[in-house]
Amino acid sequence: MISETAAPLTSAQRNLVEQVSVAARSLSDGGHDDFNQGQVSARQPGSDIFFIKNATTGFDECTPSDILVASVDPHAEKHPQLPPEVVLHQAVYAARPDVNAIVHSHAPYTLVFGATDLPLRAVSHDGAFFQGRTPRFTMTSNTILTLDVATAVASAIDDSPAAFLRNHGGVIVGKSIRHATVYAHMLERACQLQLMAEAVSGGYHSSEDEDIDAKREFNFADLSVRSYWEHLARRVKARQLTLN
Ligand SMILES: [Zn+2]
Repeated sequence: MISETAAPLTSAQRNLVEQVSVAARSLSDGGHDDFNQGQVSARQPGSDIFFIKNATTGFDECTPSDILVASVDPHAEKHPQLPPEVVLHQAVYAARPDVNAIVHSHAPYTLVFGATDLPLRAVSHDGAFFQGRTPRFTMTSNTILTLDVATAVASAIDDSPAAFLRNHGGVIVGKSIRHATVYAHMLERACQLQLMAEAVSGGYHSSEDEDIDAKREFNFADLSVRSYWEHLARRVKARQLTLN
């Protein structure tokens, strides 16, 4: 794995690498694959390094050997197989000390929803988490290849858990790989369910503010997120066992 020049990994780092590869496969289970791949990364807490899926491996086939180490410093030496959009991760980690994991994908419902001007509403529990905190980045719909554009994306995200990149995809962040991965699944589902509701004649209702507060407190507490993550990881592992 990683870089030929990297020091041997500590057991905590190996665990993080394993979690990033499980997150990648889980994102595939949630429909986040496409030809341009997308990325998932996790920062080693309290450090300036992070672990990220390489440029060419699909979410669906990711193993720990496909995870590379990178620096938050954009001027540090780069592994040649790092994804071109690594600058997006560097800019967001630099802007958000509270963020320790990032998902960027071109998941279909997130992408279509981001192409609209609809505000995201609390149609479901998932939507309740995101209502009022999913800005849209509209400066460009192109792949994020420069630090200037990546920094503008980080500014658009501000202190939100996610942002839509219009006609491109989504960026979802969290304080751990568990949180970012669960939130990425939730955003895709929130967008899917709202797009379904928008297609129904006669309109629809969404949760009241009071319910939204309660859902955020209970449904998305750290303990809940951990149980959702463990379920996602079990699904990934069960599928691998079936294939072997
Ligand atoms: Zn992209």
